[in-house]
Amino acid sequence: MDAEQLRENGHRMVDFIADYYKTIEDFPVLSQVEPGYLRNLLPSSAPDDPESLDQVLEDVQANILPGVTHWQSPNYFAYYPSNSSIAGFMGEMLSAGLNIVGFSWITSPAATELEMIVLDWLAKLLKLPEEFLSTEQGGGVIQGTASEAILVVLLAARDKFLHRIGKNALNKLVVYASDQTHSSLQKACQMGGIHPENYRMLIAGASTNYALSPDVLKEAISHDISKGLIPFLLCATVGTTSSASIDPLLSLGKIAEENGIWFHIDAAYAGSACICPEFRPYIDGVELADSFNMNAHKWFLTNFDCSALWVKDRNALIQSLSTNPEYLKNKASQTNKVIDYKDWQIPLGRRFRSLKLWMVLRLYGSKNLQDYIRNHVNLAKHFEGLVDQNPRFEVVAPRLFSLICFRLVPAEGNLELSNKLNHELLDAVNSTGKTFISHTVLSGMYILRFAVGAPLTEKRHVDEAWEIIQAQSSLLLERFST
Ligand code: PLP
Repeated sequence: MDAEQLRENGHRMVDFIADYYKTIEDFPVLSQVEPGYLRNLLPSSAPDDPESLDQVLEDVQANILPGVTHWQSPNYFAYYPSNSSIAGFMGEMLSAGLNIVGFSWITSPAATELEMIVLDWLAKLLKLPEEFLSTEQGGGVIQGTASEAILVVLLAARDKFLHRIGKNALNKLVVYASDQTHSSLQKACQMGGIHPENYRMLIAGASTNYALSPDVLKEAISHDISKGLIPFLLCATVGTTSSASIDPLLSLGKIAEENGIWFHIDAAYAGSACICPEFRPYIDGVELADSFNMNAHKWFLTNFDCSALWVKDRNALIQSLSTNPEYLKNKASQTNKVIDYKDWQIPLGRRFRSLKLWMVLRLYGSKNLQDYIRNHVNLAKHFEGLVDQNPRFEVVAPRLFSLICFRLVPAEGNLELSNKLNHELLDAVNSTGKTFISHTVLSGMYILRFAVGAPLTEKRHVDEAWEIIQAQSSLLLERFST
């Protein structure tokens, strides 16, 4: 590593990325390439002799960028956002520059201690109960993704139960969540050895606005207990993936408490909004939870990846995930005065991810972060108003944050036709390359999802997207009527 070379190349790379952001609106938002496109464009083996950065960047421009879907484009409204920011970017740069591997406190004390502090800061912004702070028995940890968060939680909860009732009971353990819960819970069950028939995906339909009904949960639990099964984990969601619905945390948490079940809250997307006092009531009941997760890399200006997980009892995680091989033993760990985050996660190695979250919190300040969220919610309200004004469309689920679920309603026709129409509308809209939206299915209805949350999105981008959606729907309806 030659410092002057790094300076020169680093500046060139920052220029390249800055130019990318300057021209980001010129690219089709959704990549329009065909599968396998890149193999024909690149050599079939690595070069023997070094090439120049110029040559590589030319290739990036000519061959890589066409195969990129531009998540940071202001015209990106698909799935959920994945924010970048200058603050987050600089934190990533610093982390790449230091390039430490902070699995134990000793391997970089600052990495562990900054993570503890920054997650305490964020917990306080979210007004999480004190038990989640690192100064108490709990604490926060940065996982790569919400999927890893739910996996470690499931393992901790599972092992806590099995420790008490015996390992042979594994096949009796039951997990509860609504059918709107993200598929990462199902994956965690598969990986955690939960019997395939013991994952209860309880129906949460239109009548409850896609939220889990406490009565349905109670009934499922009683039924399982009567069969000799053992309820051990309940996962509630604040901001489900399909429609951003919210499970009633207080009632569900009480049921979990009465039954001694580990209560996890997945707020991967909507958790960010809860730093605003007006959205904080959506996580009332978090005081009953054993663990809480939000993705700072979704809607909190922190470059991917940064998923914040808090637990009330860090020992549950540690007892399930710790190992202590000779080659990692050190004085600090043996005194029990430090946290070794290797025991809170699946891998051993870990990046210095707290730097970027720290930069975001410091360079924005909580007031700007709150305004950032509010701006997107207001843009989403604006889009909702546009949909409401057009009788050919309908909003199909309540908009609580910055996601609108809507569909084109044909004048006549059954659900099958309507689904076909909306499916085709999605493809037509995304094929324009000018905007990118995604879909889901709710109560058998094919629905379009418009999620506002890209950092560069302004009102004009929302208006343009709506123009495109309307224009494509007119073309489609014409075609369907002939
Ligand atoms: N939970 C919810 C509610 C989500 O919406 C998502 C993804 O969008 C996830 C979990 C999974 O997130 P990750 O990609 O961080 O695993």
